[in-house]
Amino acid sequence: MTAEAPQSSHPKPQLVVTLPGRTPDELRHEFRRASEAGADLVEVRLDRIPAGDVEGLATIHQIPMDYEWIPAILTLRSRSEGGEGPDEETARLSLLQRALEVLPFTYVDLELARDLRIARSLRDSYGRNLGQIFSAHLVESTPLGLLRKTLRDSLEIGSYGKVVLPATVGRTLGELVPLAREFAGQHYVLHTTGPSGPLLRVLAAPLGMGLVYASLPGDGSQTVEPSQLPADRMRSFLDAKKGTPWLAVMGHPIRHSRSPLVHHRFLEQVGLPWLYVALDLVEAEEFRPALTALKTLGLRGVNVTLPYKELAAELADLKEEEVVTSGAANTLAWETGSPGALHAFNTDVSALARILTEVGEEGWSGESLLVLGAGGASRAVIAAGVEQGAHVFVTGRDRARVERTVQDFPSEFVSYLPPDALRPEGLVVNATPVGMAGSAPLSVPLEKAFRRGGILLDLVYSPADPFLRRAAEQAGVRYLGGGRMLVYQAAESFERFTGRKAPQQLMSELVREVDG
Ligand code: NAP
Repeated sequence: MTAEAPQSSHPKPQLVVTLPGRTPDELRHEFRRASEAGADLVEVRLDRIPAGDVEGLATIHQIPMDYEWIPAILTLRSRSEGGEGPDEETARLSLLQRALEVLPFTYVDLELARDLRIARSLRDSYGRNLGQIFSAHLVESTPLGLLRKTLRDSLEIGSYGKVVLPATVGRTLGELVPLAREFAGQHYVLHTTGPSGPLLRVLAAPLGMGLVYASLPGDGSQTVEPSQLPADRMRSFLDAKKGTPWLAVMGHPIRHSRSPLVHHRFLEQVGLPWLYVALDLVEAEEFRPALTALKTLGLRGVNVTLPYKELAAELADLKEEEVVTSGAANTLAWETGSPGALHAFNTDVSALARILTEVGEEGWSGESLLVLGAGGASRAVIAAGVEQGAHVFVTGRDRARVERTVQDFPSEFVSYLPPDALRPEGLVVNATPVGMAGSAPLSVPLEKAFRRGGILLDLVYSPADPFLRRAAEQAGVRYLGGGRMLVYQAAESFERFTGRKAPQQLMSELVREVDG
């Protein structure tokens, strides 16, 4: 990877918000939200709108309007390039003309591969009143030379040239960041999807891009492209002073991580214009070089999740005690200034210690607990339990693995309990993925450990199948979801990254939102 600190003396990119709406009503509402979030432009995806509703787009621009109209881009993404619109020229031109007749679009986004004749025809009709963005959605294996040529060609004929392709973090750092620097200051867009998705969006300003595409503010559930970052956060970041840091969570897979949402809420509340993004490191070999390269590109700190927590602990220059005892780190942060040593923390352990203190206040005796699972989360529970002086029983489906985990802790505090020897416990912790979408069914009779009036702490948050919750409640056991763990470990990491405390009231709100 050869990424170097990019130049940043270019005008800042225009912020485009892609509206996910499929009906004129939805789009009208979203237009206002984009405008309020500080968008410079909105993108209307014509291919997502049923053909019969195209004339209805006129209602978006009804006068009087209760929001500020901002320039709009009309995009008709073809099926060939990952959209829902037609590939065929006559059908494309007809749809575009119908939409252009009813709404005052400033730009039309045309596909370099299929719309050259349409471009001429629209130029004849609208002249300079309608700018043309030329885009190409390419496959992952597209060679660097072809990417460069496509960007050059699209810039030559359009007001803006845009290339989008899926890319790993490794390729983005090694090839695409240097490629982007060749075009810095021109009206270009180079975005990726897939594992590196948000990365070039974070770097859009220092890389001198013309436009950067974002989603509506919120939890991202309505996003057209999952790699897009929320417009309000993007706006603050673009308006902040040069060199404003950013943060990331790294792991594989990472798509379902709620950490960006939680950290963005913390950042917003304390008034820091930083961004927080999820990067999927598909190969372990990407991890070390990515950290080094991303640091030079403004990354201040990282949350680390499966399967890189042990690797993160190994790479750090300085390790807090919890990292040494658990052998795993979920938080890496560089100290500011030179030499900028990399510190490793395990805020899973400190979050769990806090949760155990709370459940102690909520009725758990503090004498003993049972943990199901023998992976990283289980180790964090064991470490926190031992720290509190409780006896921790550990059970799981793979006896050898559980015993290996148990052996790493003092035997007077931690012991293996076979699944067929389970007995009622005041506190039971699920430290396995059971309940998550795609996970295997529970293979241990955990309900035997339920004690009426006791507590089940499920580390899984928002489970796709809430059967553990049902089983606990039927047995008269209080169920606590994984929201507390998510939010508490994030809050502790946030403090390490920013030196600021996450606001307590917001933390409680987020736990309620996550656990429902
Ligand atoms: P891990 O290292 O992969 O370990 C998972 C453990 O669960 C292993 O011991 C595995 O057993 C066991 N397991 C998996 N499926 C099972 C099943 N169907 N029945 C019984 N045991 C099963 O994962 P981890 O890092 O410890 O994380 C575990 C879970 O904790 C995650 O999936 C996540 O949902 C949750 N977590 C939540 C937070 C939060 O912020 N709320 C933070 C960290 C983790 P084998 O050894 O036999 O494979």
